[in-house]
Amino acid sequence: MPLLIATGNAGKLAEFRRLLPDIEIISPSEIGLSSFDVEESGTTFRENALLKARAFADASGCIAVADDSGLEVDALGGAPGVHSARFGGPDLDDAGRCRLLLQQLESVSPSRRSARFRCHLMACPPDGDPLVEGQGSCEGLITTAPAGTGGFGYDPVFWVNELDRTMAQISSTQKNQISHRGQAIEALRQPLLATFPELAKAS
Ligand code: IMP
Repeated sequence: MPLLIATGNAGKLAEFRRLLPDIEIISPSEIGLSSFDVEESGTTFRENALLKARAFADASGCIAVADDSGLEVDALGGAPGVHSARFGGPDLDDAGRCRLLLQQLESVSPSRRSARFRCHLMACPPDGDPLVEGQGSCEGLITTAPAGTGGFGYDPVFWVNELDRTMAQISSTQKNQISHRGQAIEALRQPLLATFPELAKAS
């Protein structure tokens, strides 16, 4: 039985396929659901991931996995959090959101700029139960200026201590090794196969 990954993002799909090689992965567009959309009205990453996973499982009749992710900045009380994609309103692009974040942290000293990317994954079968989940996080600091051209979102202002670079200055292979999403997929893998053994590809 295939597993539906509730995303239209080709990069995310590729990462799921790479990290879950023993499961056949399908995307919404492969089953006519490319324009199916779910409002992310939850107040936590878990709630939003569950809303999406439930809706896609209902609509497809497949076990569906959905993710929600974002950036939490400690000096801003965890903001932008679940609002990461819309921080500052609809008129801002990724670069504008990074600028706004740096402005809001202008008076915050480098040692108090701790932050993390978080990802929560939820897997849900068509009848809604049982749920399986996986989480990941990646710790860092918010820089005082953007650096690097790789990645997306807040990568240019997210400093990864152990690599001494921003997330936008490392290769996608390096990012996959440390990323919140990669960790969440790894955390989901075993409980997912234990709960839904029918997902394992026949060998
Ligand atoms: P989504 O859960 O993939 O929709 O991500 C929500 C938002 O969080 C994105 O639009 C980005 O602003 C931010 N975000 C999530 N993951 C990353 C990442 O790996 N790098 C940079 N920004 C990210």
